[in-house]
Amino acid sequence: MELLKEKIRREGYVLGDSVLKVDSFLNHQIDPVLMMEIGEEFARRFADAGITKILTIESSGIAAALTAGLKLNVPVVFARKKKSAIMNEEAYVTEVYSFTKQETNHVTVLKKFMPAEETVLIIDDFLANGEAALGLARIVEQAGSSVAGVGIVIEKAFQEGGKKLLEKGYNVESLARIASFSNGQVHFAEELVKA
Ligand code: 5GP
Repeated sequence: MELLKEKIRREGYVLGDSVLKVDSFLNHQIDPVLMMEIGEEFARRFADAGITKILTIESSGIAAALTAGLKLNVPVVFARKKKSAIMNEEAYVTEVYSFTKQETNHVTVLKKFMPAEETVLIIDDFLANGEAALGLARIVEQAGSSVAGVGIVIEKAFQEGGKKLLEKGYNVESLARIASFSNGQVHFAEELVKA
């Protein structure tokens, strides 16, 4: 998605050798116009997948999931990273190791919001080692629903996540794929051509 790549080139900055900071439009401040375009692009790519629900994880996946949900006209559920005291209802819980925070979260979704037989699109802001997306997929499958696809805003293709998701048979659509960082510059990878 050219508009997104342009934004990353202009406003993203590289931390160390593997983290991209995009807090001016995705991870702290949010660009609503870009986010609408992102939602439209996800909706276009998954238009024929029969999606009935979107699942993301708080907090940075929510904006993109919301605009995709608006375009696909389906509800959006965000998994919580910690079970709160008021979530005193039956829930699916799975452990997810956070790449950026280097901590394990108990990712939680109330069962009433993830019933069986939904066709679920998983959306997240970044794909690195795949922990978050695989955790969300575990919840969908525990619920007796199916993962119709995984929509990622920015994939770091030099990490293992994309490969792990493809090995599990999931249809992954990443709007920007990064091949590498060098000297603070972002180098984009080609889009994966689907058969
Ligand atoms: P994974 O679970 O695929 O290892 O990592 C994805 C999660 O970690 C995303 O939900 C995102 O919040 C965070 N993340 C991973 N890499 C980056 C990065 O380079 N920049 C930012 N801002 N977040 C990242």
